[in-house]
Amino acid sequence: DRKATIIDGKAIAETIRSEIADEVRHLSQKHGKVPGLAVVIVGSRKDSQSYVSMKRKACTEVGIKSFDIDLPEQVSQSELIGKVHELNTNPDVHGILVQLPLPKHINEEKVLSEISLEKDVDGFHPLNIGKLAMKGRDPLFLPCTPKGCLELLSRSGVTIKGKKAVVVGRSNIVGLPVSLLLLKADATVTIVHSHTYDPESIILEADIIIAAAGQPMMIKGSWIKPGAAVIDVGTNAIDDPSRKSGYRLVGDVDFKEACKVAGWVTPVPGGVGPMTVEMLLKNTLDAAKRAIVGFRKS
Ligand code: NDP
Repeated sequence: DRKATIIDGKAIAETIRSEIADEVRHLSQKHGKVPGLAVVIVGSRKDSQSYVSMKRKACTEVGIKSFDIDLPEQVSQSELIGKVHELNTNPDVHGILVQLPLPKHINEEKVLSEISLEKDVDGFHPLNIGKLAMKGRDPLFLPCTPKGCLELLSRSGVTIKGKKAVVVGRSNIVGLPVSLLLLKADATVTIVHSHTYDPESIILEADIIIAAAGQPMMIKGSWIKPGAAVIDVGTNAIDDPSRKSGYRLVGDVDFKEACKVAGWVTPVPGGVGPMTVEMLLKNTLDAAKRAIVGFRKS
């Protein structure tokens, strides 16, 4: 029986966190300035609140100053945009993150496009995504979850160049940008979505699979080419009466089966999830470096 290498996202994330903390310390010793991240939340959705508090806590841990902007559910679109503009001009704020989803009466796309390009640490500004799609152009920031997926591959020694990659999902926040990133890294990329005929046969050809469909355990062991690298972004809650909470989290990949076939596989939880917040910290550090010392690279 083949035994896949399990990519430990939690351990890799911890390493990255301490690398970031070192750089933040260095920056403040040398230039007397600390990176600042504004995390904006509208309303009181439980899941959004828990993501936001995790991000704010992570900032504090590495020495990034967190600016907490908590707005009520009823805030108007123009008030929210006013707040974004204020943060755009605040020199102590190097990155701005608006937690999604926003309430129905607010146009998300409009709000995201108001964030200054230089502070778009989530990488969702249409210009940043557009540059990601174009040859010879480099966005200032890469979206965090896609960037985390590639970081997991490179830190695990998986070659991307020349490989066949299949991305399952085409959302603006995961599937599409991760496909563009893989293409930039010289993979041959196929995107599978909800209208794809016979996804199994397409996925079976992949050297690298990025699963981001939000479909619990959709990808079976028999869909995976022996030795493939499998990055499972899916985070799905399924009923589990044996747990106190009544549920557990599973990925889009059948992990147990994948372990027998794949060359590498990420677990859920403990794979891609922990990387997303580290990439946010990294983007904020890069934004601060650019603003403070004129550092250019993304
Ligand atoms: P969306 O629901 O926005 O997008 C899902 C995508 O998957 C769509 O493009 C959809 O196709 C496609 N899809 C849905 N069902 C199928 C199917 N049966 N076969 C093939 N393709 C399918 O989800 P997100 O991109 O926001 O998130 C994807 C998953 O990743 C979720 O489980 C989410 O919880 C998780 N996630 C995890 C993060 C992390 O940090 N670990 C961060 C963000 C998301 P179509 O376009 O045709 O509708």
